[in-house]
Amino acid sequence: MSKQVLVLNASYEPLSLVSVRRAVVLLMREKAELLEATQQMLRSSHQNMPVPLVIRLVHYVRLPHRKVPSTRQAVMLRDAYTCQYCGELPGRQFLTVDHVIPRSRGGKHEWENLVTACTRCNQKKGSLTPEEAHMQLVRKPFEPSYVALVLLSNPIAAQRWEHLMDLTREQAKGSFLSQIS
Ligand SMILES: [Zn+2]
Repeated sequence: MSKQVLVLNASYEPLSLVSVRRAVVLLMREKAELLEATQQMLRSSHQNMPVPLVIRLVHYVRLPHRKVPSTRQAVMLRDAYTCQYCGELPGRQFLTVDHVIPRSRGGKHEWENLVTACTRCNQKKGSLTPEEAHMQLVRKPFEPSYVALVLLSNPIAAQRWEHLMDLTREQAKGSFLSQIS
């Protein structure tokens, strides 16, 4: 079963995606509460339960900071496939990952020095710094949270979460924006 149920922490922060089976186990053991479900019902000999979409853990889980590797794919996800110099979305095949401070100038291969750039901007910038090339970054690069990437990589989960946040904004303590920026 594919991982499709969004699990929120007790604080409403998104934690991960789990299978329907796993979500049902958490609900049955009263480790989680059901926040959103589909119209479909899961039938068993004991009880019927709607197919969960979003569940929330009853107890807050403190997670250690998980380092996210700055792969090409992850950098592009963080930047929403948008060139960080011209702001265009030319499509994946026309995107590259640029070292803001070029490697030849001592720039490191790390989140804060990596941005998505279209091939045109990357060529224009060459081995210059943004200042030298008179190019400005749309947004300062940062290390995204693991959760932000989980959501970004799964638009359906992200949509569900945003929808839910609209409904529960009052109670919600964590916010997606505060996590990714
Ligand atoms: Zn560009």
